[in-house]
Parts: sequence; structure tokens; C-alpha cells
Amino acid sequence: PSGAEPATKVVINLERLQQLPAEKVGPLARYAATIQSQRGDYNGKVLSIRTEDLRSLAIIYDMTPGELTEQLIDWGVLPPEARPARED
Ligand code: C2E
Ligand code: C2E
Ligand code: C2E
Repeated sequence: PSGAEPATKVVINLERLQQLPAEKVGPLARYAATIQSQRGDYNGKVLSIRTEDLRSLAIIYDMTPGELTEQLIDWGVLPPEARPARED
């Protein structure tokens, strides 16, 4: 087993995202900003996005959705609870 499963609930920590260098989080930061704009949702500390959006972002980052989930947890953009429970 590869171990890396995609996040079940994608709740992005916007404050943490702003602290990270643009060369790392640029595409994700632009994606989140676009969703905030589409929703008119600018006041939150976190932003819930679609699982489907995580799949699109994984393509942009050239990772599997599970690998991107691990990367985002590593950066502190997703909480460790985003890591799905393993059945093993
Ligand atoms: P939750 O999903 O656990 O979210 C907890 C809190 O995180 C929310 O409190 C809100 O302050 C923040 N939050 C989460 N996602 C976003 C986001 O995309 N944008 C912003 N600006 N803040 C976000 P809040 O708003 O008092 O909501 C409390 C609970 O009410 C939520 O807990 C959820 O269970 C429910 N809820 C609120 N809005 C929705 C919604 O659009 N859909 C569904 N299904 N439940 C919602
Ligand atoms: P849309 O996809 O046609 O969705 C229209 C409205 O349906 C949304 O208005 C929202 O009120 C509701 N809606 C759709 N899917 C969900 C969902 O999974 N959870 C909740 N709580 N509500 C949902 P809203 O929020 O004003 O968004 C307007 C448009 O902005 C959306 O139209 C969509 O085109 C885009 N958008 C907003 N947030 C996202 C996102 O997280 N991912 C993507 N791919 N598009 C988004
Ligand atoms: P949520 O609102 O609690 O919705 C949980 C799941 O229910 C969504 O997971 C989606 O599978 C389904 N769902 C809810 N509303 C709709 C809808 O109007 N149309 C369809 N086709 N499915 C719906 P998903 O897509 O992974 O989204 C996760 C969370 O991201 C949502 O939790 C909500 O907090 C946020 N979200 C996603 N899309 C939108 C949107 O367009 N507008 C807003 N305001 N929030 C959204």
C-alpha cells in the first residue's frame, strides 16, 4: 500500500497559507483566492473546498491526491485530521 490517501474533508488554513513562500504554494493560493472571490467569502480563517478541487490541484502539482494531502499536512495548510483513517 502507498499509504497516501486523499483527504476526506478539505479545510484549508488560510493564515498558514499566507505565511508560506509563493514558489511553494502559488497555484494553491491562487486557487483558494479564486474560490473566495466566487463565493464572496473573504472573512474566514479557513476555507472549505471540494474534494474534486483537491483532485484538480493534484494534477497541477503533478502528484496523486493522496500525495498532495500529505504535502499540505506537512506544510500545515491542512490539519493532520485531514489524513483519512487507514483500515489496516
Ligand atoms: P464546520 O464545517 O466544522 O466549520 C467550522 C467553522 O469553520 C465554521 O463555523 C466557519 O467559521 C469555519 N469555516 C469552515 N469552512 C469555511 C469556509 O469555507 N469559509 C469560511 N469563511 N469559514 C469556514 P460556522 O460558519 O459557524 O459553521 C458552523 C457549522 O455549521 C459548520 O461546522 C458546519 O457544520 C455548518 N455549516 C456552516 N456552513 C455550512 C455549509 O455551507 N454547508 C454545510 N453542510 N454545513 C455548514
Ligand atoms: P455552482 O457550483 O453552480 O454552485 C451554486 C451554489 O450552490 C453555490 O453558490 C452554493 O451556494 C451551492 N453549492 C454548490 N455545491 C455546494 C457544496 O458542495 N456545498 C455547499 N455548502 N454549497 C454548495 P456559491 O457558494 O455562491 O458559489 C458560486 C459559484 O462559485 C459556484 O457555482 C461555483 O461555480 C463556484 N465555486 C464556489 N466555491 C467553489 C469551490 O469550492 N469549488 C469550485 N470548483 N467552484 C466553486
Ligand atoms: P458541505 O456543504 O458540508 O457538503 C458536503 C458534500 O455534500 C460536498 O462535498 C458534496 O459532495 C455534497 N454537496 C453539498 N452541496 C451540494 C450541492 O449543491 N451539489 C452537489 N452536487 N453536491 C453537494 P465537497 O464537494 O467535497 O465539498 C466540501 C465542502 O466544500 C462543502 O461541505 C462546502 O463546505 C464547501 N463547498 C464546496 N462547494 C461549495 C460552493 O460552491 N460554495 C460554498 N459556499 N461552499 C462550497
